[in-house]
Amino acid sequence: MLEQLDKEYVLHTYARNYVNFKKGINATLFDEKDKDYIDFTSGIGVVSAGHGNKEVADAIYKQVQNITHISNLYAIEPQAILGEKIAKLSGMDVATFFANSGAEANEGAIKIARKYGKTKYDGKRYKVITLEHSFHGRTITTVKATGQSSFHSPNFAPYPEGFSFNSAIDDIFNSIDDETVAVMIELVQGEGGVQPFEKEAVQELAKFLKQRDILLIIDEVQTGVYRTGEFLATNLYEIQPDVITLAKGLGGGVPIGAVVTTHKDIFEPGDHGSTFGGNYLSCASANKVLDILEKYKDAGTLDETIIYFGTKLNEIYEKYQNIFTDEVGLGLMRGLRVKDSDMLKTVISNAFDEGVLVLKAGRNTLRLLPPLTISKEEVNEGFKRLDNALAKIA
Ligand code: PLP
Repeated sequence: MLEQLDKEYVLHTYARNYVNFKKGINATLFDEKDKDYIDFTSGIGVVSAGHGNKEVADAIYKQVQNITHISNLYAIEPQAILGEKIAKLSGMDVATFFANSGAEANEGAIKIARKYGKTKYDGKRYKVITLEHSFHGRTITTVKATGQSSFHSPNFAPYPEGFSFNSAIDDIFNSIDDETVAVMIELVQGEGGVQPFEKEAVQELAKFLKQRDILLIIDEVQTGVYRTGEFLATNLYEIQPDVITLAKGLGGGVPIGAVVTTHKDIFEPGDHGSTFGGNYLSCASANKVLDILEKYKDAGTLDETIIYFGTKLNEIYEKYQNIFTDEVGLGLMRGLRVKDSDMLKTVISNAFDEGVLVLKAGRNTLRLLPPLTISKEEVNEGFKRLDNALAKIA
């Protein structure tokens, strides 16, 4: 029934699995037949505080009983509070524009860069350099910023000008010219294969860009909000970017995006906007999610979970050397490289049959993004099921 409805009335942009999930408790999902699944995906890094989180649900309910939405024509108290929290947790002197998604946040970041080039360099600087295997979104501009030619389908051409990508951080130094206004990178490439960059290389790039007054935009749509163990991967890498974008984990499942910048006066009224961005609903949810995760981090629980998850992941990696070639990632953004893409498909489908949800990244990376609040029991059960799935291949 669901399959039929979906196929008839929803545009076919995904190769979907037709399981019908009805309920979630932390990292465990239940389908309509009450079969349970351990969720090592958190809806692609979104449900950071777990499914069915009572505190988040209560905060949302309390808010929407009063006001769900007013518009950005009026000050929105939970939005201002969220902006303050982001500044405090990042440890930076920043202000935020609130959007609805990662792509939209990256659009905002690119607009900041373009305006910087226009006002400070009379428009002579406008080019944005990104990296190969990056992923920055699905709008026409962010798809063009994405450093994967396979995404630049002629079906959607023409694309905006002023974007190019390099194959490695080292190449960026030579690619910069008088027209470059910004460099935009992820610190751990998510969709591209859960690939972290070397801290020293990133710090060197940041320093180089600062000397030339070229903006550094860090896309933390996937790495942000404690995913790598710190509030921002930026904090882990100890850099000071000009713009940081957030989305996925921030709202705990409610759509929200954030453009966080040290250039607090770059925009003036009319430069940018959003009807829904940062409304009462999404900010009430994000405020509660940040409160929960901050406590989780401060109590040491997040660090313990990261270590425990990493140990179990390593056991699996060591046990199945016939399937895996490398272990990658940071924090609770982890991956195992699989020998080839066909084998990866089998791993994901076997895992599903065994009752554990896992993701793909790039061509041949098994990607794991569990809720940050996942319990030890759920970690154990998830890896037991993954082990069963892998044993079938071995
Ligand atoms: N940037 C990164 C690093 C992402 O991982 C994603 C989504 O996977 C995006 C941007 C796009 O975010 P959204 O799908 O919310 O537009």
